Amino acid sequence: MLFKTSITYRKKTLLKLLIAIEKHEEEINQALYNDFKKPEFESYLTETYFVLSELKLTIKNINKWAKPKMVFPNLVNFPSTDFVYSEPYGKVLIIAPWNYPFHLALLPLVSAVAAGNQVVLKPSELTPATSKLISKIVGEVFEKNHVKVVEGGISETEKLLAQRWDYIFFTGSVAVGKIIAKAAAENLTPVTLELGGKNPCIIDETANLKLAAKRIVWGKFLNAGQTCIAPDYLLVHQKIKPQLIEYLKKEIALAYSGKIENSEDYPRIINEKNWKRLLDLLEGEKILFGGKSNPTDFYIEPTLVDEPKLNSKIMEGEIFGPILPIISYNSEKEIEKVVYNYEKSLALYMFTNNKIFAKNSILKYSFGNGCINDTLIQFANHRLPFGGVGHSGIGSYHGKKSFELFSHQKPIVKKATWLDITLRYAPYNGKLKILKRLTNWFS
Ligand code: NAD
Repeated sequence: MLFKTSITYRKKTLLKLLIAIEKHEEEINQALYNDFKKPEFESYLTETYFVLSELKLTIKNINKWAKPKMVFPNLVNFPSTDFVYSEPYGKVLIIAPWNYPFHLALLPLVSAVAAGNQVVLKPSELTPATSKLISKIVGEVFEKNHVKVVEGGISETEKLLAQRWDYIFFTGSVAVGKIIAKAAAENLTPVTLELGGKNPCIIDETANLKLAAKRIVWGKFLNAGQTCIAPDYLLVHQKIKPQLIEYLKKEIALAYSGKIENSEDYPRIINEKNWKRLLDLLEGEKILFGGKSNPTDFYIEPTLVDEPKLNSKIMEGEIFGPILPIISYNSEKEIEKVVYNYEKSLALYMFTNNKIFAKNSILKYSFGNGCINDTLIQFANHRLPFGGVGHSGIGSYHGKKSFELFSHQKPIVKKATWLDITLRYAPYNGKLKILKRLTNWFS
């Protein structure tokens, strides 16, 4: 039986969730620290703050968003009043990754609940402390048959995928995204896939280099580079490359006070497997900065790599760690050659003061989302739909868009009975001319 909820009930439980998150904030920080030494500042900025602000926005607007929307009728339906109802899909499965384990599990949950769905949430097994805490918070706030957390890894997810769902929302890798899409297809279940990609960051000769370096270092090394929208590699105009590299080195030193491994502001790689994978990418590459590592807590220093080949391991797939390849270019054709070498990326960044170059690049390349003269911050505006395109994802969410995503938009025409225009009914003899004239006038 589906757990049906009124708007008042949804609002009440979302408010309860908000209070519970505020109450458990210290524990959330601790869990994230235990999982991969996430600094408290980043835990607030990139995890709890996002969820709290989405909750506040949703609670404030839920009545308005959930209300049937009246739209203009058209000639064929005249006289009528036309509405769009937001109907909950029903049973929603949310599968979350480890890199922002609190935020990426809870953000879709807020909207799925707001839209009236029953939810099963599967957090990542790679962040066990956060996963356990999510389960505790959800248990405190929601009725068991309304929202449930299933902890576990691949086998638990497979069991969940074998069931029938009305909607699946997945955030994770492209490879697992394909498994999810296949499982969903069995029951024609609609899916949102929030995936990854190889995000280019282009810096041309007109850019403010010092500022670009600061913003690139922030966007790349936040969360130790384990961010789906982090710049994956730099494409730098040859003329300004040496200067940019100097600025990048200075900014890394400034951010982590020169003692990166001891800095409280720099997290660790999630596990040994990923730590080894990342170090393996550095094999045979020319390191301009960094490269140090420590197996005891899976530390990898912010690392700059010079001119890797396009067919090298480091340029093969998404890096997802604190390693930044720097590739120079001389012409737009050379930028194209690199960008087109990959599937459509989740993000693309440009540092430039050349408005025409920026505009042309937005139009030329297909990518999920992006920024001009900054990194990552497109994620923060709930008015901007967030998602990928092609292999970087299907669908987008955040704010009102998320509410709509978790609702079937059900159109209803309420036809008047006081008038019945007979034009559409057979026999059609002699009516086509009138129909064409009318449709031409009113289209
Ligand atoms: P992942 O695909 O390995 O895991 C994601 C989820 O899928 C986890 O809950 C995991 O338990 C489950 N899973 C893993 N293997 C599975 C399998 N074989 N069958 C069924 N379920 C399985 O991803 P990850 O390592 O947790 O996260 C990193 C990836 O996620 C990166 O590629 C990154 O770009 C992407 N990502 C995307 C976004 C976005 O918003 N687009 C956000 C964060 C991360």
